[in-house]
Amino acid sequence: MLDSYKHKGLRKVLVKQLREKGIKDEKVLISIEKIPRHFFVDKYTAEVAYADKALKIDAGQTISQPYTVAYQTELLHIQPGERVLEIGTGSGYQTSILLELGAEVYTIERQKELYDKTTKFLPKLGYHPHFYLGDGSMGIPEQAPFNKILVTAGAPGIPETLLKQLAIGGILVIPVGDEQVQTMTTVLRISENEFEKVEFAQFRFVPLIGDKAW
Ligand code: SAM
Repeated sequence: MLDSYKHKGLRKVLVKQLREKGIKDEKVLISIEKIPRHFFVDKYTAEVAYADKALKIDAGQTISQPYTVAYQTELLHIQPGERVLEIGTGSGYQTSILLELGAEVYTIERQKELYDKTTKFLPKLGYHPHFYLGDGSMGIPEQAPFNKILVTAGAPGIPETLLKQLAIGGILVIPVGDEQVQTMTTVLRISENEFEKVEFAQFRFVPLIGDKAW
């Protein structure tokens, strides 16, 4: 796996584009500039790997567009040491961004093919999240509470089970909508029974496939 000057240059251009599109969090931008995205999508040319586009990975799934990864991560406001649950490990690219920000990451994937590949691949880059195989729409109750929960697939609603697994002061970031379009949504847990929901821009994700999730 080679990370050449050309790759580094393409990452700088990508970061510049993300800034122009409105991403402001410097720590998020530094992580994107550091992580070799082309390692996660090795069937594509360097130019395609660093285009601001979602790309196909295995099992009919996608690695999200860099802008979407940056947008979701910015909304999480990650602080070092926070416990973060990521639903939809996929290629592990978003996972590695969360780890670069200093989070302790619990990541869950329902596709065994992707789970098998990513559990082998990420440690080779020095990234060590806690990997789980299963239905992330149910969260990981035995590891709750989480300071932050990130859903990287489009959900038809906000799973009650995930809200219960948020720490007080914690934030859930989830794209909510139908199969065509989803609204990026955050839910802040204010107290045991109070939650504050805010809606942001529209995106298009592969669907969250879950059991009794909403
Ligand atoms: N974060 C990933 C990355 O950086 O490559 C991109 C994820 S892709 C847009 C969404 C992922 O969510 C897919 O890998 C899909 O298999 C997974 N997924 C869908 N429903 C799920 C569920 N209920 N539990 C866990 N993973 C799920």
